[in-house]
Amino acid sequence: MHVHVLGNGKSGSGCRVTSRWWQRPFIDLMVANMGLRTSPDDPALDQLYVERLLHWVRESTLGRAVILACDDLYDETGRRFPGLSGLYVPNDYVFELSTRYHEFVPAASIHPARSDAVAELERCVEAGAVMLKLLPCVQVVECNRPAYRPFWQRMAQLNLPLLAHTGGEFSLPTHRRDLQSVETLRLPLECGVNVIAAHCGAPALPWDRNYFDQFDQMRKSFPNLYGDVSALSQITHLRTLDRLREDPRQILYGSDYPVLTTAVWSRMKGWIDQPAYQRIRSIRNPLEKKVQLTLALGFSDQILTDFWGLAPTPQASLDGQSDELTAS
Ligand SMILES: [Zn+2]
Repeated sequence: MHVHVLGNGKSGSGCRVTSRWWQRPFIDLMVANMGLRTSPDDPALDQLYVERLLHWVRESTLGRAVILACDDLYDETGRRFPGLSGLYVPNDYVFELSTRYHEFVPAASIHPARSDAVAELERCVEAGAVMLKLLPCVQVVECNRPAYRPFWQRMAQLNLPLLAHTGGEFSLPTHRRDLQSVETLRLPLECGVNVIAAHCGAPALPWDRNYFDQFDQMRKSFPNLYGDVSALSQITHLRTLDRLREDPRQILYGSDYPVLTTAVWSRMKGWIDQPAYQRIRSIRNPLEKKVQLTLALGFSDQILTDFWGLAPTPQASLDGQSDELTAS
């Protein structure tokens, strides 16, 4: 339930992406990890990205992947700042991809400060969205603003879960460090929304604050607060992973593809044995590598499916075949 699609929009997807020079080596690593042979300005990038992702889903043990839209940054008056959030993926793009390929399930992204926020929310649910994705510290979403209450209430009525980034962010620009906390999700929780704190408030870089304790306390008082294991495998995530392995309550599975997964730190901690390490290390498919590492760390395979207990049923069933698949 945490897979990114992205693109440069040069072939009409409507996507935008901006990166800074110092990110280049990391972007190159991710591109190599995905198995893409392309450049950021390639007009074919968007389609190549989708084809690659589709290939990985089809040859993995996963049935489907929830792909995420990404809205722009808005200020509290509803003024839009295109480009400031680093990534833009239109809702209609993830809907289109999910119609074309039954392996994809769409998650919308709507900044609640938009003047059309509630109308767009209703439109997206009608179009088959199974979740709403936001990055509060990147898109500047102060979820606890009283003005957003009707938006969260409508989400709760529509039974649409919120996946919100918490903790440090590495790939996109952080505009509001204070909005990395789990505390920032209190109002949607109080309105009855099922909220998934992505990464459980884990730090991305060594100097980031760790919000795991906050997450841990809040999951005890809010049965509708969940966390995900997406992206967690690097050295900065070890403390979080340690605590989650001890107490995996309300934890869901996500990968944060194309973010890299490594088994090296889990091996060094002694959490996995040498044969398991060798086996995971040799998996080329980034989606499958993350699944296998998660299971080897002792998480039950139930976390792979628990998401469907709190989301609307996706429109096409798992055994439903899309035209594209039948044709190919
Ligand atoms: Zn993510």
